[in-house]
Amino acid sequence: MKGAVLYGPRDVRFEERSTPKIIEPTDAIIRISATCVCGSDLWPYRGLNPINGPTPMGHEYCGIVEEVGSAVATIKPGQFVIGSFFASDNTCPHCHAGYQSSCQHREFVGTAQAPFLRVPLADGTLVATPEVPSADLVPSLLAVSDVMGTGWFAAVAANVKPGATVAVVGDGAVGLLGVLSAKQMGAGRIIAMSRHAPRQKLALEFGATDIVIERGDEAVARIKDLTKGIGADSVLECVGTQESMMQAIGSARPGGSVGYVGVPHGVELDGEKLFYAHVHLHGGPAPVRRFLPELIDLVWRGKINPGKVFDLTLPLDRVAEGYRAMDERRAIKALLRP
Ligand SMILES: [Zn+2]
Ligand SMILES: [Zn+2]
Repeated sequence: MKGAVLYGPRDVRFEERSTPKIIEPTDAIIRISATCVCGSDLWPYRGLNPINGPTPMGHEYCGIVEEVGSAVATIKPGQFVIGSFFASDNTCPHCHAGYQSSCQHREFVGTAQAPFLRVPLADGTLVATPEVPSADLVPSLLAVSDVMGTGWFAAVAANVKPGATVAVVGDGAVGLLGVLSAKQMGAGRIIAMSRHAPRQKLALEFGATDIVIERGDEAVARIKDLTKGIGADSVLECVGTQESMMQAIGSARPGGSVGYVGVPHGVELDGEKLFYAHVHLHGGPAPVRRFLPELIDLVWRGKINPGKVFDLTLPLDRVAEGYRAMDERRAIKALLRP
């Protein structure tokens, strides 16, 4: 089979790779129905995360189970399944606490931009849909695999409550789906921070009530203006830079919460500032597995349509164009079909 391999900065190739096989008895092999390029794939693509030699890419996936190992009990060939970027046993203490992305046996699933994928710990990792979905549901089910699950976790970590005032830092796919998540959780006011017209439009469609185009301290001042000087109850940090993190902390009211899901790059927090900010901080790699059953159900019943973040669809062999379009911000998120 052929799949995506990153060779170095802005050098993604579609090339021959070995077809995955069952290695452990707890594995499953799935035939990918759709995969995509993640905002986090752009860090190594831009050379901001070093790589050690050619690296297969992709960690968002859904598809049909082809084969399972001898110890797999609940996942069956023929099912349509969705999993997360961390395989998890779903039985250890961390999984039971709802932190499957810190599972004691977690394994990163990182070769999904390909026609076939090996998923470890299949029973714990994969969730099957009630039946094989119609084609129109596939983008939204794919979104649940990471961006929707991550935006949802940002809102959960930021303690979004009905009627709350929520601010969202970041207008990538995760930030936009953070807006959708806050709306679904009953937020009264949702302030999206974005300066790109197509993303502002989607934020409004997903439930944003206000748009703030400023950044950094000016953005914080704008949030204070909009909230009678108080600040937001909940802030979703969906970028991962020093500026975005400080913007998030500064935008929260005393006693408010920041849910941070942007992978930090060079973020350092000043203990004294944090002390006087009086905010709750919670975040990390989203335990998407915790939310999969609920989010799949919301998609299945047509309550949410997170697949709208895919504004570019390409055949998998044009994966390099998907990276380019996202790098140049011509696309919010690129869906790839094998
Ligand atoms: Zn991702
Ligand atoms: Zn576990």
